[in-house]
Amino acid sequence: MSQVVVVAIFMGLLGLIVGSFIAAVTVRLPRDEDVVSGRSRCMSCGQTLKAWQLVPVLSWLVQRGRCGLCGAAVSPRYLLIESAGAAIGVWAALGPGAGGWMPGVATAVLGWQLLLIALIDGENFWLPDELTLPLIATGLIGAAVLVRGWPVPQLIGAGVGFGLLWGLAALYRRVRGRDGLGGGDPILFAGAGAWVGWAGLPSVLLWACAAGLSVVLTLRITRGRVAMSDRLPFGTFLALGIWLTWLYGPLGG
Ligand SMILES: [Zn+2]
Repeated sequence: MSQVVVVAIFMGLLGLIVGSFIAAVTVRLPRDEDVVSGRSRCMSCGQTLKAWQLVPVLSWLVQRGRCGLCGAAVSPRYLLIESAGAAIGVWAALGPGAGGWMPGVATAVLGWQLLLIALIDGENFWLPDELTLPLIATGLIGAAVLVRGWPVPQLIGAGVGFGLLWGLAALYRRVRGRDGLGGGDPILFAGAGAWVGWAGLPSVLLWACAAGLSVVLTLRITRGRVAMSDRLPFGTFLALGIWLTWLYGPLGG
């Protein structure tokens, strides 16, 4: 087996474990439960799961999607999130960002953070600082390590990203008299700049708006209408935009 395949399998398996942790965080963080030391329980019977029942994907398949203790159906969201974690690991190992192990690791770290942020915002309309601030930190540290010096475009990107969305939110509040953006969006956009640099910010916004528009169009077609007050998780679209811009570069760049 070639080295690339070995790395891809390793990153995929690692992604399963990370994905399983991400799935737990998406349940515990919105309920303000301990993320790290809390034991995993069945959502139906409340019993603590045994070690083998925590094995990602496999335990779900072996138990045919049911709790081994009480038989209640276990939501396939765990399976989906774990699979997404694995897919990000494999994508990082094989994808366009993979030029050596360092960029590959950076790509995976970014992807897993974005997956968690996208899920939390998508399900709760909430971008906690506990998730967005580390995104800025890891972006700047990763860039500093990769260029072996000051990550100037990324530092500018973080500042410009925050300022831009903060200004937009302030403007919207003045004009419409209500909040159009969540308080976490500027910090997430700062994280975008910390990863893709200032030159990548327009691409992130374009991807995010394209994703948002396709969702609105889909809703229009399936539900018939969309109210202006319907909330969309902008952070989820931004996360997607950061991921695509990181992997495939700024548009036109
Ligand atoms: Zn149970």
